Amino acid sequence: MSTFFSPTMRREAAEKFAELIVRPRDRADVIAIARAAAIARMPLMMRGAGTCNFGQGIPLRGGAIVDMTGLSEVLWARNGHVRAQAGARLIAIDEFTRPSGWELRIHPSTKRASTIAGFIAGGHAGIGSVTYGILRDRGNIVAIEAISVEEEPRSVELRGDDVNLMHHAYGTNGIITEIEMPLAFAWPWIETVVNFPDFMAGARFSYELASSDGIIKKVITVDAAPNWEYMAAMRPFGRAGWTMVRSMVAEQSLDAFRSVVAAHGGETTVEAPEGAGPYRAPLWEFAWGHTMFQISKERPGLIGNTGLYLDPDVLTAVERSYRRFASLGAMHFDLKRYNGQIGFQGSPFYAFTNEAQMADVIRGMAADGAMVANNHTFIGRKNGVIAVNDGEAEFKAKMDPHGLMNPGKAASEAPPPEVHGSAGAALPTTGWAYESRGASAVTVPS
Ligand SMILES: Cc1cc2nc3c(=O)[nH]c(=O)nc-3n(C[C@H](O)[C@H](O)[C@H](O)COP(=O)(O)OP(=O)(O)OC[C@H]3O[C@@H](n4cnc5c(N)ncnc54)[C@H](O)[C@@H]3O)c2cc1C
Repeated sequence: MSTFFSPTMRREAAEKFAELIVRPRDRADVIAIARAAAIARMPLMMRGAGTCNFGQGIPLRGGAIVDMTGLSEVLWARNGHVRAQAGARLIAIDEFTRPSGWELRIHPSTKRASTIAGFIAGGHAGIGSVTYGILRDRGNIVAIEAISVEEEPRSVELRGDDVNLMHHAYGTNGIITEIEMPLAFAWPWIETVVNFPDFMAGARFSYELASSDGIIKKVITVDAAPNWEYMAAMRPFGRAGWTMVRSMVAEQSLDAFRSVVAAHGGETTVEAPEGAGPYRAPLWEFAWGHTMFQISKERPGLIGNTGLYLDPDVLTAVERSYRRFASLGAMHFDLKRYNGQIGFQGSPFYAFTNEAQMADVIRGMAADGAMVANNHTFIGRKNGVIAVNDGEAEFKAKMDPHGLMNPGKAASEAPPPEVHGSAGAALPTTGWAYESRGASAVTVPS
């Protein structure tokens, strides 16, 4: 999956293989692997479910893939948080907490497959982010326990701002063994599909729904036609040429939700309890990364870029891009809170021609007011929300003194020679600005 959405990365990842796969059964095995890798100077590529899509999982320097799914226990849940081993699947965590009325605040659209450590080390936001923000926002990760890769491996537990030293670090600075996450009330959720005759009506509706703080919601995804028409399961629930908004609201918010729909002239075609929609999958499997995944079943050549349009005046910026790219491709957005602001994350979905075309699209999005991250390169510094600061470099030096963990990907490392001049890395992206946190010096106990 690591290069699934990018023809450029797929090309540049060809012939980059690991040499072996190891699968620890418990913490003692993890320590033994860390020690052995340090002694043999063997690169380690950590692996959960392998669903990351920013190239995080491509081993640039060979070595061993460490499959962490053997450490899959959900350890405990109490007082609104849960602690699980690194390889616990997100769906298993929800199954553990839901009977007592709690669930994860945020999960990726890959909830069925992906692991908690993979999400924290490789993902950034998802279903729930329209209310709770991104994982990097304070309070969205409680604690991370990790082991260093040294001849005498040490263990560290990060809390507070320090969790961001390992979040979205692509497994470059320690082996995560346990994670503690905050929980939210597990509302009975209603999935909805609402259609609008024009794109900006759908965008304005989405913005008002996102900013209606009294309405409890979990996801808002907007697709102009024909994006949703390419998703076979969704096709019966749209209106030809219209814009489709898919969302999830708490059952108790349904009347208020319907008022927002009416105020914007929307036409509702689906209201169904979570997982019971007529499209035969949970609605969250038609949002975030899964939108392109579903579309690619019919249109494998389409691509997108990771633009982030933020308030103030996000709708004006979104409209500029909608008009600019009208003849290129239809707009797709997932709404989220980002550092407290409402954000539209997305781009047009368009047929890939070459990197020069992609660069033009990126320049156009930036001119319209978007920050654009790079989802077509393996290099962490360029492709995500990564804190690049002294704290991060210092922490990596403590946790991975021999530079064995996913070499070449760390935000603090110089790009490896093999990606110099790569078409993906050369795209004119700026990344997503974010107040840098997690810079405090962390003591790794001996
Ligand atoms: C269809 C699709 C939809 C997606 N939707 C979303 C979405 O909504 N939101 C989002 O944020 N992301 C999304 N993603 C990408 C996202 O990163 C993954 O889906 C998921 O969260 C990663 O979990 P995983 O277990 O598959 O991790 P992997 O892919 O196995 O690993 C991800 C990264 O974490 C590192 N890692 C894994 N385990 C450890 C460990 N124990 N210690 C240290 N490092 C470790 C790996 O080395 C790698 O760099 C999507 C991807 C796809 C293909």
